[in-house]
Amino acid sequence: MFKKMFICLGMLAAFTLFFASCDKKKEEWKGKERTLSIIKPDAVSANHIGEIISRFESEGLRIAALKMVKLDEKGASDFYAVHKGKPFFADLVTFMSSGPVVAIVLEGDNAVLLNREIMGATDPSKATKGTIRSDFAKSISQNAVHGSDSKENAEIEIPFFFTEKEQQSRF
Ligand code: GDP
Repeated sequence: MFKKMFICLGMLAAFTLFFASCDKKKEEWKGKERTLSIIKPDAVSANHIGEIISRFESEGLRIAALKMVKLDEKGASDFYAVHKGKPFFADLVTFMSSGPVVAIVLEGDNAVLLNREIMGATDPSKATKGTIRSDFAKSISQNAVHGSDSKENAEIEIPFFFTEKEQQSRF
């Protein structure tokens, strides 16, 4: 009788602890987002991977996944499909498949917008000083980094490079 009561109480305590830790996790995740960053072939070949990653980290973004990959022309063309038909599309595909890139899932408060701020404007000549593109990009076509421009696009772009299992939540 007592043994059964102890088992029941133990199970109750375990369930309570489990749900409390789920609530804590939910609370910590509030306001957090994920976004996709790509360190493009120009910045990889110029050896700026570490400097770029350290800017994300020093602004409070955390890395949830990271890999170096070489896109082929089809991969680059699929990733940038939204730009098909634009005059710079062919050059963009050639450039993005010209060498390895580093794909990164960043997470944190307002990660999408924060990453866009850290990156700077698409055209490095118009980018604010101290941004990645202002400091490391050569031109509008070789502009060091990609970053998702909305939460919705991040949700499409992240699975392009990473499975769920390859992403580790840091919060
Ligand atoms: P991003 O989100 O700031 O990267 O800019 P977009 O999504 O508009 O464009 C994707 C990429 O295409 C940019 O990062 C540039 O490398 C390239 N791109 C965009 N606009 C131009 C342009 O007017 N000329 C050239 N050459 N490349 C461009």
